Amino acid sequence: MFGTDLLRTRADATPDRIALSAAEGDEQLTYRELDTAVTEMAAALDSVGTDRPDPRLAVALPTGVPFVCVTHAALRLGWELIPLNTRLSEAELATRIDRVEPDLLLCGQETEQLLVEAERRRSPAREPAYLSVDDPGSPSFRPLPSPASKPTATPHAPDDTALVLFTSGTTGEPKGVRLTVGNLTASAVASAFRLGVTPTDRWLCCLPMYHMGGLAPVFRSALYGTTLVLQPAFDAEATAAVLNEDGITGVSLVPTQLGRLLDVGFSAPELRTVLLGGAPASESLLDRAADAGVPVYPTYGMTETASQVATARPAEHRDHPGTVGQPLYGTSVAVVDPDGDPVDPGGRGEVVVSGPTVTPGYLDPERTAEATSSLGLHTGDLGTCDEDGRLWILGRLDETIITGGELVAPATVAEAIRDLSAVADVAVVGIEDEEWGEQVAAAIVPSGSHESDRELREQVERHCRERLADYKIPRRIRFVESLPRTQSGTVERERLRELFE
Ligand code: ATP
Ligand code: MG
Repeated sequence: MFGTDLLRTRADATPDRIALSAAEGDEQLTYRELDTAVTEMAAALDSVGTDRPDPRLAVALPTGVPFVCVTHAALRLGWELIPLNTRLSEAELATRIDRVEPDLLLCGQETEQLLVEAERRRSPAREPAYLSVDDPGSPSFRPLPSPASKPTATPHAPDDTALVLFTSGTTGEPKGVRLTVGNLTASAVASAFRLGVTPTDRWLCCLPMYHMGGLAPVFRSALYGTTLVLQPAFDAEATAAVLNEDGITGVSLVPTQLGRLLDVGFSAPELRTVLLGGAPASESLLDRAADAGVPVYPTYGMTETASQVATARPAEHRDHPGTVGQPLYGTSVAVVDPDGDPVDPGGRGEVVVSGPTVTPGYLDPERTAEATSSLGLHTGDLGTCDEDGRLWILGRLDETIITGGELVAPATVAEAIRDLSAVADVAVVGIEDEEWGEQVAAAIVPSGSHESDRELREQVERHCRERLADYKIPRRIRFVESLPRTQSGTVERERLRELFE
């Protein structure tokens, strides 16, 4: 349907439109200029050469013009692009590089030192070529060579891996997600149906490009022929100023960022779309945004689906509070019970996603098998759909409690409470909460040695205050005769939650 070189098609169609604009400074590139820069970069990378048929290009760069150029250059060459998280520690980065075994490792001035340190800790099975888009300060890196001739492009087939992006690692070690050009274009097309596009759109990108939310606008803008405004990092005041003065029509934000922007205040006269996702948005945040006239599109997405799965329009929040909307065009969502069978509308269960944006798999095939069924990709997220297919995300199936942005492992809290002789058994769970996202809640089976529930409650609270950080202390406590357990003995968290409803 679409070529794999999105930029070339676009540059042929509208060469004089502005493709990129730096939020701070005057740098601006038309699609023709961007196309030329990308051809040069592709030729330079190609002349470094590798012996693999599908070379792997690992990139550690901040959000900016070089990152965009490298992304399109990799697509043009038919190479695999692997954006590296530049906020990892040197040791973590070393492990990650060892896992992906890149043929080329590309840094810039800002990230060179980090990579030099990471390299010291590496046990390389394969030595990559070390390159920098700037003048390298370290002797281990060399500048990109001047391109001699045209790059030898071998375009990706639609189902080839074009991109390997790592998940955020909320539930464990981050997973390397393979994404194809087909996934990326399907996502960009579906997004346009939900958010709308006009040729004069200016999308602000202030998220890191090593996450899906930061990288997706690169593909979207190239497909649409719109302008991408690049800001190296989010900063409430600086970002508000760009929104106010730079004719921005759209921006992707995570909830914390929107909260900060509302704190400092912004007018953003042209703003039509705030794509808000990555984490649950509280009712109060959405109400504040609505009161301020900010056009928020709450979205649910993930690395594995090349960004949005479902996105709600601003007006939906009024009639269906908390929804992330219906699935995007082409995407299907099922909510399934623990046996993997779809539940009726209104029922809770794991969100399973299928459609053209869904990854062909993780780097590790075992993880792909674990997460896949005939219905699609099992997200590990708990959700519910209404009769119209509108989706609500209720949390992670995984038990980690996120309260006020802090992660709480239920086991830590349960262990502390179990120390008390008056407690026979205990389980800890996160309960949905408007203000905090989730609240820590404990269900306790008393041993019978206490005088009254009230006295035991005070004893538990006192004990927790001594033992645990403030945010880990249960805000809700219930006394029960026994805990709901499965046949294999594990606590049924869903039934436990119902105790608090
Ligand atoms: P890992 O998969 O390594 O544990 P991660 O799931 O946090 O990390 P990402 O792909 O960056 O990695 O994040 C996607 C996840 O973020 C979703 O699966 C979901 O849990 C959460 N999420 C995204 N948008 C929303 C939303 N609107 N509401 C609630 N949760 C959301
Ligand atoms: Mg995940």
